[in-house]
Amino acid sequence: MFCTNCGAQINDGTKFCPKCGVQVGGEQAPVVTPVEPVVEHVEAVKVQDNSTSIMVLGILALALCEFGIPGIILGAIAKKKANKFAKDHGMIYGKAKVGRILGNFGFIIGIVMTVFVCIGAIASCVSYLDNVYYY
Ligand SMILES: [Zn+2]
Repeated sequence: MFCTNCGAQINDGTKFCPKCGVQVGGEQAPVVTPVEPVVEHVEAVKVQDNSTSIMVLGILALALCEFGIPGIILGAIAKKKANKFAKDHGMIYGKAKVGRILGNFGFIIGIVMTVFVCIGAIASCVSYLDNVYYY
């Protein structure tokens, strides 16, 4: 059965709602539709978790951007999640905003580092060939 006050699901025979504490004992078990408030609650929690994960991704992107590719990937995921957050809420704010900024930095620095590594690799190849030619 369901709590008449908050709509929480309660085991039959329980006298008090474990969620809100209202007495629910008695024979009359009205069929309320508790689905809506429960779903809303779950979604609110999910969105909060989402913004935290965006921030964590942004931090990781920035922390790993010196290695190039990981920063690009994590930054891209953070940006993608941040865009979804912005779409869901009409705007972006809080931890999600921080995550997107950090993710952007990680993404850009990751690309720069990758380019440097490529240039470095080419440069060392060239200097290796130079050495081969000259010695
Ligand atoms: Zn209740």
